[in-house]
Amino acid sequence: MKYLLIHSPGRKKRPFASQPGTYCKLFCNDPHHPDSILNRPVTKEYRIGDTVFRGFPNLYPIAGCHNMILKFDGEGYPHLPQAMDVETGKEFAGLAEQMPEDTVLYFNSKGAYASIPEHLHFQSIDLKPPVFHLLGRLPKTKPLQVVEQWPFGIIATASSEHFSRLAGLLNERNRPFNALAMDGWFVVVPRVVPPGPLRYGIKPGALEMAGVKILEDATAVSDEEFIRITAQTAIPHSEAHKLCEIVAPESG
Ligand SMILES: [Zn+2]
Repeated sequence: MKYLLIHSPGRKKRPFASQPGTYCKLFCNDPHHPDSILNRPVTKEYRIGDTVFRGFPNLYPIAGCHNMILKFDGEGYPHLPQAMDVETGKEFAGLAEQMPEDTVLYFNSKGAYASIPEHLHFQSIDLKPPVFHLLGRLPKTKPLQVVEQWPFGIIATASSEHFSRLAGLLNERNRPFNALAMDGWFVVVPRVVPPGPLRYGIKPGALEMAGVKILEDATAVSDEEFIRITAQTAIPHSEAHKLCEIVAPESG
């Protein structure tokens, strides 16, 4: 498997992320804060039925065109927990349809090494994580499928219905997970979070679990070591199969 290496020196410089709750100052409870997103440019507005989402440039971009996407109620950005149930899963799928080409939409639930664990948001970035190159060779007809070629248990589907049902199940079980969408595919990465920090200070979120190696110094860790570390935070293939059977018994 070929990893996409991204050197991101900006990643460590996150004064807000290091203080729990402070992102809500910018998003929902301090409209006069100089960095409030009410004062930031809107890159795009998305509509899913009557629901509106707005995209903003990420404060700490990893690379290229990196946006945060939040629900907008006409006046502000209502406080919602960073969790994805069936309904939120459907909204994520609705947004995925509206992403520009070559852009991945993703989500880190609370507990899945989310950078902002307190306020519901999605992110988009214009790169193609390696897992999506692999999916291009799989049939889109199966309701849910475990990607056997991946080093740990991840689940792919081209069905927004099955995707949102799987998200709902993981949410009900309080299982942290990442979700990604691109090219008509959804990828779900159920997580386990081992106690204590991981080596090299790696905090693998959705992009890392999909094969993007984001490190201040990407050469400091070999691809093999990176895979080994991320696999410690994921479930085995066998457990991913069990989840597929619960959500879609016909997945086989
Ligand atoms: Zn909030």
